[in-house]
Amino acid sequence: MRCIYCYASAGENSPKFLQWEVAKAAIDLVAANAKKLGVKHFSVGFHGGGEPTLDWRLFTRCVEYSKKVSEEIGIKVLNSVASNAVFNNKQMDWILKNLNSMSISLDGPSDVQNYQRPLVNGKPSYDIVFKNLKRLDEAGFNYGLRSTITDYNVRRMSEIVEHFLDNFKTKQIHFEPLFFCGRCHTFKINAPNYRMFMREFLKAIVIADQHKVRLAYSGLRLGGLTSTFCGACGSNFSVTPFGDVTSCFEVTEKEDPRSAIFFYGKWQDAKKEFDIQEDKLDYLRSFHVQNISYCRDCLAKWHCAGDCLAKVAADADVEGERDSNRCRLNQEITKRRIMQFFVKPPKDEKVTKTN
Ligand code: SF4
Ligand code: SF4
Repeated sequence: MRCIYCYASAGENSPKFLQWEVAKAAIDLVAANAKKLGVKHFSVGFHGGGEPTLDWRLFTRCVEYSKKVSEEIGIKVLNSVASNAVFNNKQMDWILKNLNSMSISLDGPSDVQNYQRPLVNGKPSYDIVFKNLKRLDEAGFNYGLRSTITDYNVRRMSEIVEHFLDNFKTKQIHFEPLFFCGRCHTFKINAPNYRMFMREFLKAIVIADQHKVRLAYSGLRLGGLTSTFCGACGSNFSVTPFGDVTSCFEVTEKEDPRSAIFFYGKWQDAKKEFDIQEDKLDYLRSFHVQNISYCRDCLAKWHCAGDCLAKVAADADVEGERDSNRCRLNQEITKRRIMQFFVKPPKDEKVTKTN
């Protein structure tokens, strides 16, 4: 595909794929770690830059290998992928048989999807994704839908939820405001105004609530308490096509200045193993919200937990101030969502006149 806002540049540079030897070693390492810890399952996930199933042979080989390892060590493996769902029938047959879950990008009804997420040849993608979602629904497959919200579709968030509810059986919808980068400059597409995003999200979530479907935004997480925003704080083990080990799914290239924070290891071809920099890992593990003084008195402290480090690092020091629209959005939307839960809308009050 060639989505108009993507941080990966489809077709502009030749793609770089992970080496099988490195992928295999990563799966072996994670499985061995799971066995050592005595946990019930381990997870193997596939994520961009770009579409992670592009090298279909490598992707399927990794999944099949992880299942083989899982049988050998007697620990369940969960395989998941974040994908555009542009697959042919044969690929769909394989997915239904082999994966546990998927997060699928779909930005809305056909006009929105086809504008924001065209195929690489410029043709529409909606019908292909629609057909594949129907197959997932028929099979009762576990998937979520993820929509990127831009200044183009922000006023249509309720309509997008209704469209998904009318057409698909997913129980999880995720809206994320566009993070301005990559081709956004060329296509002149912008992030939504954060107040507009909040207003429209809070309308859309009422519709999702009524249908018992979970509508999520990463900065609004009232379902639990946490001291870290995500696994980028030292628990993700992600390997890039260049053999670098990163804790952040979005920071995958050495040229990205944020790699200085998130890269904490490298595949060593000569030794045939990953070299891990423990000091960098310790630094990532220090990003608990208790250590971020800016968040000390924030209402959303134990939900937002200092926010997505990659986004903070894009325009500020990760250790310092979060004084951004995204931080304001997270605070305000958390407050208003709590009010939605606990403050009942006023009944039609009869005004009685007293003297
Ligand atoms: S830091 Fe942000 S972009 Fe990176 S993995 Fe976490 S949520 Fe994703
Ligand atoms: S101050 Fe901002 S970044 Fe920190 S927890 Fe609150 S909303 Fe999140």
